[in-house]
Amino acid sequence: CGIVGYIGNQNSQGILVSGLSKLEYRGYDSAGIAVFTNEGLQVVKAQGRLANLEARLEISPLTGTAGIGHTRWATHGKPSDANSHPHTDSSQKFSVVHNGIVENYLDLKEELMAAGCKFSSETDTEVISHLVAREYDGDIVKAVQKAITHMRGAFALGVLTEYEPDKLVAVRQASPLIIGLGEGENFIGSDIPALLEYTRNVYILNDGEMAVLTRDAVELMTTQGDFISREMITVDWDA
Ligand code: GLU
Repeated sequence: CGIVGYIGNQNSQGILVSGLSKLEYRGYDSAGIAVFTNEGLQVVKAQGRLANLEARLEISPLTGTAGIGHTRWATHGKPSDANSHPHTDSSQKFSVVHNGIVENYLDLKEELMAAGCKFSSETDTEVISHLVAREYDGDIVKAVQKAITHMRGAFALGVLTEYEPDKLVAVRQASPLIIGLGEGENFIGSDIPALLEYTRNVYILNDGEMAVLTRDAVELMTTQGDFISREMITVDWDA
């Protein structure tokens, strides 16, 4: 239901949680974040209101300067801790947040399970993490591009992999997503208010487009991999 993401030089946990709190108005049943920590890609998530996630983070804070966050409005699989996003693959090296629906997820799940993937949720989203892991061959951008050729439906995605900790990949296909531009830091969000506390400079993605964020740059391309240029918009209204 809502996505945020951060890659920069500040600790990401507070930025992700604050962004999620701005997306609260969209309604949700669970929330979670994944952060690159010294111990690798770590996930904390909780069913219920953001306060439940914050309580967990108080006990086990995630320290690191890149991460993704999600508020969920369950479409496939009941609201529960296990079904909350982010979702990971069997190796736990890939982490995905997703808004929307993967219509053909049952077929994909069957195929992935037959190939040995271990599923830990009932969601349509989890197939995406396993697909990206299966397609990964040293290049996360190509892996995401290949993964989505197998998926039908609506999605906005934020993807991280432990193999390339300096990259955050975002995709928009029939579900909203914007990119926020900072100094030595960049952001993704489902809408502008989620990012306004940190930046007013944004790119609006169109359907079929994706972005590759590093700390110092944002590359925009189609999901086929053709680079595109986009005018930056500076937002002049207040949250
Ligand atoms: N279909 C996904 C799920 O049920 C994502 C729902 C959402 O957009 O929050 O987990």
